[in-house]
Amino acid sequence: MEIKAGLSALVTGGASGIGKGLALALAEKGVFITIVDFSEERGREVATLVEKINSKFHSKLEHPSAIFVKCDVSNSKSPTGDLAAAFEKHLLTYGGLDICINSAGIGNPIPFNKDQTDGTRSWRYTVDVNFTAVIDCTRLAIKTMEAAKRPGAIINLGSASGLYPMYADPIYSGSKGGVVMFSRSLRLYKRQGIRVNVLCPEFVETEMGLKVDSKLIGLMGGFVPMEMVVKGAFELITDESKAGHCLWITNRRGMEYWPTPSEEAKYLTRSARFRRRSEFKAPSVKLPESFEKIVVQTLTHNFRNATSIVRTPLRLPVKPNHILVKILYAGVNASDVNFSSGRYFGGNNSDTASRLPFDAGFESVGIIAAVGDSVTDLKIGMPCALMNFGSYAEFVMVPSKHALPVPRPDPEVVAMLTSGLTASISLEKAGQMESGKVVLVTAAAGGTGQFAVQLAKLAGNTVVATCGGAAKAKLLKELGVDRVIDYHSEDVKTVLRKEFPKGVDIIYESVGGDMFNLCLNALAVHGRLIVIGMISQYQGENGWTPLKYPGLCEKLLAKSQTVAGFFLVQYGHLWQEHLDRLFNLYSMGKLKVVVDPKKFIGLHSVADAVEHLHSGKSVGKVVVGVDPAFLPQVAKL
Ligand code: NAP
Repeated sequence: MEIKAGLSALVTGGASGIGKGLALALAEKGVFITIVDFSEERGREVATLVEKINSKFHSKLEHPSAIFVKCDVSNSKSPTGDLAAAFEKHLLTYGGLDICINSAGIGNPIPFNKDQTDGTRSWRYTVDVNFTAVIDCTRLAIKTMEAAKRPGAIINLGSASGLYPMYADPIYSGSKGGVVMFSRSLRLYKRQGIRVNVLCPEFVETEMGLKVDSKLIGLMGGFVPMEMVVKGAFELITDESKAGHCLWITNRRGMEYWPTPSEEAKYLTRSARFRRRSEFKAPSVKLPESFEKIVVQTLTHNFRNATSIVRTPLRLPVKPNHILVKILYAGVNASDVNFSSGRYFGGNNSDTASRLPFDAGFESVGIIAAVGDSVTDLKIGMPCALMNFGSYAEFVMVPSKHALPVPRPDPEVVAMLTSGLTASISLEKAGQMESGKVVLVTAAAGGTGQFAVQLAKLAGNTVVATCGGAAKAKLLKELGVDRVIDYHSEDVKTVLRKEFPKGVDIIYESVGGDMFNLCLNALAVHGRLIVIGMISQYQGENGWTPLKYPGLCEKLLAKSQTVAGFFLVQYGHLWQEHLDRLFNLYSMGKLKVVVDPKKFIGLHSVADAVEHLHSGKSVGKVVVGVDPAFLPQVAKL
């Protein structure tokens, strides 16, 4: 939702503190506002201020641009006002409700175990204002938004103490914890166009914040500035993918979504992850007598010269423990050229040559077209992903245990296979990534780089990314990268030295050659550099030439650093778990998957696609649509 003049917002607790800050920030965009508060004098003052700011946007209006409604939010039929009436008045005045900010909140004045009152100083009253009223206001906001038949954004003010305990005020902490879980549980209202999110700042310099022990504030890195709270709230309003999200704002770590994806993966059930599978309607597949596939005929890193398309008979019936998959999309990888040169098989040249001809392609998604007699858990028509050799083909027969069930056979899912899994598993296992670190990703706008930057950001890190070209730099900014270094216009070494003088904690390095050396020199004390690949070395005159790294041991020793290799094939036991995680993040809108816009359709276009990836011009994941006859039914290409 774009925050613009003419929208309307209702802000509870709008007379002071965060509510006031957000009301004034919305007014700066020309938004009409209803201030709901118990404090009449201050509430009216804020409404007057909003009107004054709003006059820059609106000249002749038939209604005021701000109104004040006196109301105790804890009591829907209070003597001082009626909460439902406040929403009704808003609807009558502005004809709709676009944004609702539930900010009214109080600290608990008397320790609950000593509390013998039942008035406004009791712990029950604190719970009523902080939690019960938020439920009530959310209910009324949803009702009002539905009545106006317009999309809406609701932001509930939680608190960092709703995420972790606040020993000085357990009632406050508990009530805010309730707000967090209540708001997160409302994610599905997004289907009706109503997005409920929760904002959890640490201490802000408001009346409430100023009551907190200054030593504690000092330990937290000072007060969180109001501008940061406004930035967070505006992100939750404007970003349409945010629903049921909880944004934690601290001075120490910046803005961070909680829980992190790996925390979330611990409690999500398999059925929740795969509910969307049923949405896919499989096209029927006729089994032909023969099919085409790409075969490596000669060992060379020049993929085009190495391979040819061959027609081969489809041997039926399918073996007992096997499935036959109709391939829809195949993923293109930097290492296709290493595979065609025989590098994947190790051994010497004559050993590898004795394997010729062999099938090319590492990964694909498709539909199960036939199953062997002993296969019970997979059915014809189910979408699945494969990560085995021979994916540049119209059909492939594989042991059923190799099938990775996926909700849909889309290009985005192909991107999540080799590229997504490499980023997801390597950052966790080889990079031991946590939060609050500086993470550098090279070739960041490529197939795997795009996942690495987003996962590092989602985990709460500062992310630096290198790429070649302005279009890629723009994309990386959109993916949330904090500092993009376009090496066409800036020197990577100079930027890192100047802006990250303490070094980089984790490096996801896939370029090799000079870039590897540069990265190694930029690594911080205790830093970890993950060797993902060395794309710059794959296409040398005589293929891949290994390099020498003099002084490597001395460098690592001097700074207690780690250089960790990572090869995805050795982590097969984690593929399904991480694929589920990636798909879940993607379907919740937390992860974007960029597929290169250039269309490659049919097996004859695979060599072009491989060359496109190595041209340095590709953006995101390069994907080939294998059978043109099937693409319109399922394609997004
Ligand atoms: P990719 O990143 O999509 O590759 C394209 C990008 O790489 C280009 O946009 C370009 O980015 C950069 N590039 C291409 N040719 C280059 C050259 N000659 N010199 C320098 N940069 C060049 O490809 P990918 O398939 O995702 O693979 C990326 C890397 O990850 C490769 O090294 C690959 O081997 C590795 N990988 C490893 C594993 C594993 O298990 N270890 C798994 C998957 C991939 P910029 O110019 O914008 O930097």
